[in-house]
Amino acid sequence: MNFNFYMPVNILFGSGQLNNLAKQELPGSKAMIVISEGKSAKSNGYLDRLQKQLSLAGKQYIVFDQIEANPLKDTVTRGAEFCKANGCDFIVALGGGSCIDAAKAIALMAVNPGDLWDYVAAGSGKGMDTQYKPLPLVAIPTTSGTGSEADASSVITNEVANEKTGYVNKGMFPYLSIVDPELTLSIPPLFTALQGFDALFHNIEGYLSNAANPISDMYALKGVSCISSNITEAVNNGSNLKAREALALGSTLGGVVMVAGKLTSHHSLEHALSAYHQHLPHGAGLVLLSKAYFAHMINNHVCDDRFIDLARAMGIQNASSPTDFLTALSNLLEACGVSKLKMSDYGITPDEFEKFTDNAKRTMAKFFSCDRLPLSDEDCINIYKNSY
Ligand SMILES: [Zn+2]
Repeated sequence: MNFNFYMPVNILFGSGQLNNLAKQELPGSKAMIVISEGKSAKSNGYLDRLQKQLSLAGKQYIVFDQIEANPLKDTVTRGAEFCKANGCDFIVALGGGSCIDAAKAIALMAVNPGDLWDYVAAGSGKGMDTQYKPLPLVAIPTTSGTGSEADASSVITNEVANEKTGYVNKGMFPYLSIVDPELTLSIPPLFTALQGFDALFHNIEGYLSNAANPISDMYALKGVSCISSNITEAVNNGSNLKAREALALGSTLGGVVMVAGKLTSHHSLEHALSAYHQHLPHGAGLVLLSKAYFAHMINNHVCDDRFIDLARAMGIQNASSPTDFLTALSNLLEACGVSKLKMSDYGITPDEFEKFTDNAKRTMAKFFSCDRLPLSDEDCINIYKNSY
C-alpha cells in the first residue's frame, strides 16, 4: 500500500461562490484573465461578474480571449507573451478544462524560457526541468468535466507534431479554485453529457488503474455515484441546480483522483483521436471508445471485483458480475442521448487506427503502464475497430 497524496489546492465549492472571490486573498496585483475564444463567458455575464470581483478586491486585470477547444501549443506561446507584455503577476482562468489547462501552461511559460515542449516529458518533448515556479493561478471552472481545478496537469496539443499530451508540474496546482455550479446551468444538454462522462471516466479509470490506493478509491467511488445518479437529470433538465452541484462535485473529485491515483489507457487512446481530429470533444472520444475498451478488460477478467464495485456505485445495487458494469454504462449512455455517437460523425476513418495506436503509445505511454492488463498494439487496434 504505497501512495503519495499531495493536494494543496484551496477549493471554494458551492452555488454562488463566485460572489465571494473578492473576499479571498489573491496572489498578485494584476490578473491575466484567460477565457475561451467563444462567446459564453461574455454573454452569460460571468466575465463581468469576475471583473467586478477583481475590482472590488483592488486588482487590475486584462483579458486574453483566445483559447480554443483542445488548446494548442501556439496559443500557449501567444498567451505567455501577452502575459509578459502586460506585466501580469497572476492568472485567472474562467472557463472549461481547455481554458484552465491552457492557463496553467501560460503561467509556466510566462516565467520560463524556451518552448513548452522543452519541458513536456512525452512524445517529441525534451523533458527538461523548469527553472522557475509558474505564476499563481485562480481556476474558475464553468463546466463539470476535466477536474483541472484540482490537479497540477495541463493537456495541450502540439499541432505540428500531432501530439496531445499531459504535462504535470507541482507548481501548476491552482492557488485557489472556485467551483460554482451555478456557472454550469447554461451548458447545453450534449455538452453536459460529454463533459459529465469525461468526469465519470476519470473516477472509473482511477478506480481500475494499478495505481489505485485507499485515498483514490474513496474519492473515485463517491465521484462515480455522484455523477451516475445525477447526469441524466442534468442533461434532461439543465436548470436543476442540485443535479448540477452533484456533477460539479463529481468532476472535482475526479480531479483529486488523478492527483491521488492515475488514469488508464482509455485516456491515451482518446488523446490520439483528438490529436488528429481537433474538433472532436475529449468527452465524445472517450464515449466512443468506452464500451469496447472496458469490455476488453472485462472479457480478460482484469479485476472482476472492482468492476462489480463500480456497477454498484452506478446504481445496480445487486451487481454480481463484472458485465453488470457494461449494462450500467450502456444504460447511462442511452439515457443521456450519447449512445449513438459514431467516429464517422467526426471524420475518423478505419485506416487511421494504426496511426492512432502508434501515437497513443508514444505520447501517452504513462497511462498504458497504469493498466492492470498490458494492451498490445493489436489489442488497441481491435478496440478502435470495435468502437467504429
Ligand atoms: Zn479526461
